[in-house]
Amino acid sequence: MYFPSWLSQLYSGLSRPIRRTTQPIWGSLSRSLVLSSQRRNPEFSSFVVRTNTCGELRSSHLGQEVTLCGWIQYRRQNTFLVLRDFHGLVQVIIPQDESAASVRKILCEAPMESVVQVSGTVISRPAGQENPKMPTGEIEIKVKTAELLNACKKLPFEIKDFMKKTEALRLQYRYLDLRSFQMQYNLRLRSQMVMKMREYLCNLHGFVDIETPTLFKRTPGGAKEFLVPSREPGKFYSLPQSPQQFKQLLMVGGLDRYFQVARCYRDEGSRPDRQPEFTQIDIEMSFVDQTGIQSLIEGLLQYSWPNDKDPVVVPFPSMTFAEALATYGTDKPDTRFGMKIIDISDVFRNTEIGFLQDALSKPHGTVKAIRIPEGAKYLKRKDIESIRKFSADHFDQEILPVFLNTNRNWNSPVTNGTQEEDVVLLTAGEHNKACSLLGKLRLECADLLETRGVVLRDPTLFSFLWVVDFPLFLPKEENPRELESAHHPFTAPHPSDIHLLYTEPKKVRSQHYDLVLNGNEIGGGSIRIHNAELQRHILATLLKEDVKLLSHMLQALDYGAPPHGGIALGLDRLICLVTGSPSIRDVIAFPKSFRGHDLMSNTPDSIPSEELKPYHIQVSWPTDSKAAKAH
Ligand code: ASP
Repeated sequence: MYFPSWLSQLYSGLSRPIRRTTQPIWGSLSRSLVLSSQRRNPEFSSFVVRTNTCGELRSSHLGQEVTLCGWIQYRRQNTFLVLRDFHGLVQVIIPQDESAASVRKILCEAPMESVVQVSGTVISRPAGQENPKMPTGEIEIKVKTAELLNACKKLPFEIKDFMKKTEALRLQYRYLDLRSFQMQYNLRLRSQMVMKMREYLCNLHGFVDIETPTLFKRTPGGAKEFLVPSREPGKFYSLPQSPQQFKQLLMVGGLDRYFQVARCYRDEGSRPDRQPEFTQIDIEMSFVDQTGIQSLIEGLLQYSWPNDKDPVVVPFPSMTFAEALATYGTDKPDTRFGMKIIDISDVFRNTEIGFLQDALSKPHGTVKAIRIPEGAKYLKRKDIESIRKFSADHFDQEILPVFLNTNRNWNSPVTNGTQEEDVVLLTAGEHNKACSLLGKLRLECADLLETRGVVLRDPTLFSFLWVVDFPLFLPKEENPRELESAHHPFTAPHPSDIHLLYTEPKKVRSQHYDLVLNGNEIGGGSIRIHNAELQRHILATLLKEDVKLLSHMLQALDYGAPPHGGIALGLDRLICLVTGSPSIRDVIAFPKSFRGHDLMSNTPDSIPSEELKPYHIQVSWPTDSKAAKAH
């Protein structure tokens, strides 16, 4: 129950950075959170009644008269209590003499988590009673006066990080959950990183922080947008999925280097680690190319990276989309470990194994494999069975597991470098499909191996990767004969592929780049089209979009739009990875639940039909759903 003095370390940078291997918890003293290179400690007690924070008091404060405000964390036998604020814990001695009866009454009777103000003297703890695990463990407060600022009712859960509580309960009482060390740490680290990003962008590189509207117009293509009714019958605003159009228009407006900590909205239904509203570090620059944006982002992350982590090494490696798919089966490869996909089609050209032969006889037929180190030791029969079932159910593909200890003599890439205990998972079929399946199995097997104690992914490692040379278009999922933008419709084609736009658009590569960290997409951007004709052709002819919705953009491009490009970093996901949090909800102060609800205020909520009238809206209640029963 010790509150380490992490915050002072966070600001002062006094202790040596220590590599952190697990998430910080209350009382983990081997941790140093030196997040800022700021020389000065912020003044945590300016403008308020307290003189000091609970966590900052040390032997150097002995004899000082202090006033502290905090929550009662713990009380022992009416002799002392432990007071907590955002900064740490401090021990307060409850006076026993008759003259202090009223102070004693307050401190002994106030329920746990009540908020109190105490004044008294910093004294040293009696010899032998120091607590080396507690940063304030050498001192205690001899109280003279105390005031109960507000009593606390019985809590739905204890404010202790080790107490297990469901996420629903945490979200329902978010304001209490925020008192935990973990949430305090995550939100303060987030604030520090954002501050450093602002510093880097505005002070060091001349960016301008500009707010763009959240009431906007529908954008064709891309994610589903939230609608906001207006008082004009049948007319709606849309909440922007990103400030994409505005940031490009700012370039036309000569604002040259824009950035914003931008709130974005996407109505994508329930997905476990997505939020309907989320935050991007949104950036746009004029007269820039892909390498310019990449260097800017590498510098930005290096500059804002917490000091207690291994420094970010730049430049980040880069991989083409085609290579990422072929070797990792995904456009966001986790490059912290091997188990790469290999093509072994040639080995099996003359095979008699039915399904391999079958696959190879088809156009684009391939045989691919991944090697699972020591798989025979760690994977159980039921794991292999579920792998085969998953492959059949989700990919309509067969998987052949090969246990190499019985089969060591093949002169093939599969066995090169393999060990006795390795298992090879082999599949055959069309290139993309076989790779995607093996990419999924690679991650699945890594998870399985790790649950059985194998360390494949070093938790202190941050493995950044640029993925480049995406195709400009992908076949639409629901109708593969039609095209959709791989990034968004404003992305410029690769200069050497422009001619293909008019002949073989599927083959056009784009100037789109994604930033991947440990297998998660944490950013994406592109060089934009700044030629109205080209933009119109892509929208109208290739994407078959209604260009009227974007006439303002097309018009703007015609008025001397500079060449420009940009990127957006997903701030929530980035902070989630940096803090090692299990979910992005743990780095957002008031997140929505997995179903998109605010469980604290019960949002979304119904609106009386009277109040819908000005918007000319009526609810048409579903007849057979749960929603109907609820009303
Ligand atoms: N607006 C894009 C997105 O949200 C990022 C960009 O292209 O700059 O993904």
